[in-house]
Amino acid sequence: MSIQDISTQDTGIQHLAIQDIGTHVLPVQRSRSKTKTNRLTLVIVLLAILGFLGSLMLTVAATWVDNKTDTGSITGFRTLSHAKTLPTPPVTIRSSLKVPSTPSPITPFPPYLWQELAVLQSQNRFLFYGNSRLPEVALTFDDGPNPYYTSQVLAVLQHYRIKATFFCVGRQVAEYPDLVKQEYAAGNVVGNHSWSHPNMGLLSSSDISTQINLTSDVIQKTIGVRPTFFRPPYGVFNSSVLTQANLLGLTTVIWNDEARDWLRPGIDVITSRILGLAGNGAVVLLHDGGGDRSQTVAALPTIITTLQSQGYKFVTLQQMVNDLPKNPAANEASVSVPTLTPVLYPTPTVTPTSTPVISPTPTGSPMLTPTGTPRRYTSP
Ligand code: ZN
Repeated sequence: MSIQDISTQDTGIQHLAIQDIGTHVLPVQRSRSKTKTNRLTLVIVLLAILGFLGSLMLTVAATWVDNKTDTGSITGFRTLSHAKTLPTPPVTIRSSLKVPSTPSPITPFPPYLWQELAVLQSQNRFLFYGNSRLPEVALTFDDGPNPYYTSQVLAVLQHYRIKATFFCVGRQVAEYPDLVKQEYAAGNVVGNHSWSHPNMGLLSSSDISTQINLTSDVIQKTIGVRPTFFRPPYGVFNSSVLTQANLLGLTTVIWNDEARDWLRPGIDVITSRILGLAGNGAVVLLHDGGGDRSQTVAALPTIITTLQSQGYKFVTLQQMVNDLPKNPAANEASVSVPTLTPVLYPTPTVTPTSTPVISPTPTGSPMLTPTGTPRRYTSP
């Protein structure tokens, strides 16, 4: 009901009231002046009450309309004279409007890891890498924000006018929110890397959910946008991790190009490892937090300029997902790419919820070094 409707109805009620009362007033005897006076008083009081109620209804309706107008749902009511008398609140876009709707979970979701991977990959909700037909590379930086190195990484990205993805640890976000705001303001994507960087393969479903949710909450509180990308710490996942990530509508992203920069092997080693594994759709793992990342920062310019000279374009994970075939299974079938077969031990059919997968190590991958060493470290 609009204010106009309310106003018309309200005025109608007043007319009815006056007519109704008038039919009783007219036959009154002149000699009973005291009674007449009382009735007139009653009429005046009733009219006053009706007028007050009508005004109140319009005020409530106009206030409600003003509130709705801020969300962009309803407009145009301020042209009414009654609404004009109300203070006009500043028109601001609420942060909730900037939040993309959280992707829906895939349902039904299968119970076993291999089925889950197949279903997720068929809908581009689990990635080791992007489109193998496009010269795109996604730089990803884990374990930040860090008060020393995150701003240095941001400066390098800014210098080369490229964007990347930061998988942030929730408790670090809570401690250094301004750095995450800078990441987001520069056009980078901010992803979820758990709250305290545990091995999620060892956690209960409830604890996994808490780790992910707390982090998404603090990121949303910081930049106004809820993350849609999730990377489990150490790249460790199992059926429970994928189930919780799916329930929360997240796309899980591992990597297929890394240098073990967290071991500080030297600037040249980091550079040559990343360049050696780079290719179409490469998802590059580097670190801006969790320890001394000065070697990583120093290696970045050569990595960026070399890959650019080879024709690669740096994209965020969001761009990389946007550029994926809609039906990866059908489109990628004939392409020679690493087989998406993470190392699993023991088999998931024995204890599917407690058998972590150490990622990435897609077996048979021509882009990976043959070491296959599980990536475990203590940071952050
Ligand atoms: Zn990490």
